Amino acid sequence: MDCPYCNNTESRVTNKRSCPQGIRRRRECLSCKKRFTTYEKICQEELFVIKKDGTRQRFDREKLLRGINRAFEKRPVSQEKIELLVDEIESGLRKKGIKEIKTSVVGELAIKKIKKIDNIAYIRFASVYRDFKDIEDFKEELQEINKKSK
Ligand SMILES: [Zn+2]
Repeated sequence: MDCPYCNNTESRVTNKRSCPQGIRRRRECLSCKKRFTTYEKICQEELFVIKKDGTRQRFDREKLLRGINRAFEKRPVSQEKIELLVDEIESGLRKKGIKEIKTSVVGELAIKKIKKIDNIAYIRFASVYRDFKDIEDFKEELQEINKKSK
């Protein structure tokens, strides 16, 4: 890292901490002794989602979180658990090196995870994402859930 004052390439780190942008380091130039700050940004591959109508947009974690939060409204599940679920979905996609994914696939991933946590949230989320073809599909799902919870 070049010193911004004298362009010397050697510096020592006097302080290092994490910040929302990545890692912040305070450095001291070994030549002129002036101090400066550097940021190391976490560089993530872009992840895109393909919507039903074929349009492509950047994966929006907040949007997914909002949708899932709505499903969990008034359910006895902590916000922390919900955020963790969203993190798992996102990091799962990134780990696989996926660059483009259909929103319906993201929806299915979310549905699977929600189902393990809360049945009511699952039904709410699935009914939005999966567009149950007709009310019969919906009834079948409900019956299946009732059977399991008995
Ligand atoms: Zn310097």
